[in-house]
Amino acid sequence: MPFTGRKVRDFTKGHPALALNTASLGHNLDGAGAGWSPERVIDACAARGYGGIVFWRREIGTRAVGIGNRVRAAGMQVAGLCRTPFLVGREAPATDDEARASIDMAAGLGAPVLTIVTGGTEPGTKGVAETQKRLADRVARLAPYAAERGVALALEPLNPMFGGNRTCLFTVADALAMAEAVGAPNVGIAVDVYHVWWDRTLAGSLAAAKGRVLGYHLCDWLENTRHMLLDRGMMGDGVADLRAIRQAVEEGATYDGFCEVEIFSARDWWTRDPAEVLDVIAGRFRQFC
Ligand code: ZN
Repeated sequence: MPFTGRKVRDFTKGHPALALNTASLGHNLDGAGAGWSPERVIDACAARGYGGIVFWRREIGTRAVGIGNRVRAAGMQVAGLCRTPFLVGREAPATDDEARASIDMAAGLGAPVLTIVTGGTEPGTKGVAETQKRLADRVARLAPYAAERGVALALEPLNPMFGGNRTCLFTVADALAMAEAVGAPNVGIAVDVYHVWWDRTLAGSLAAAKGRVLGYHLCDWLENTRHMLLDRGMMGDGVADLRAIRQAVEEGATYDGFCEVEIFSARDWWTRDPAEVLDVIAGRFRQFC
């Protein structure tokens, strides 16, 4: 890893850089988790010294402005919004309107970043080459609309096992190439431990991504994963080298934004009291991340 002289941040004594992604409480799926309201989540995060929150669209509805103001009144920031609808693949919307609506919601919240999970291989095509071309066109069309509203778009590569129906970007290098193909100043990438921990080329890719990382997502990869989507681990419980990944994100890509904890965990963390989950996240963040 090239030495940049930059110091990796020390989180052992405090966690203002910690953000909750509400998926850690099951809020990305109907019927999952304890069903806390956004207001209750805001108060609980503020009480524990979190610096930010990332919401999912399904929680927000028409209340984006009010919820965003509530977060800031509690002394935190809306760190981001998950996510656009799929932009390519079988479930992609026929028009850009639905994607623009997610940009409007991010703007209403005052969220600086909207994550893009791309969607899978386009109907009638094979592999990902044609799909990536169509994705580049679609993101290029959306980027100016987002820029006018102060929203950046973060392309999130997913673990290759999500190819087919959820993504056409498998590595940080893929996502960076896509961001560069689009060529808009407000298009970058998101780095999620769950999706990149295995990648031995990660540090090199991140060194080439200077200034392009718009989000860093934390969890852990459990040694024996029981469900590929909904069995993420709490930081410290798995085999991902969290310190090495953050060093590459901060030193290599010069990222200094929020670290967003995003744990999809249907069998474990979503079954617990959210207050306990928030306490454990803050403790593990300081200890392991
Ligand atoms: Zn993520």
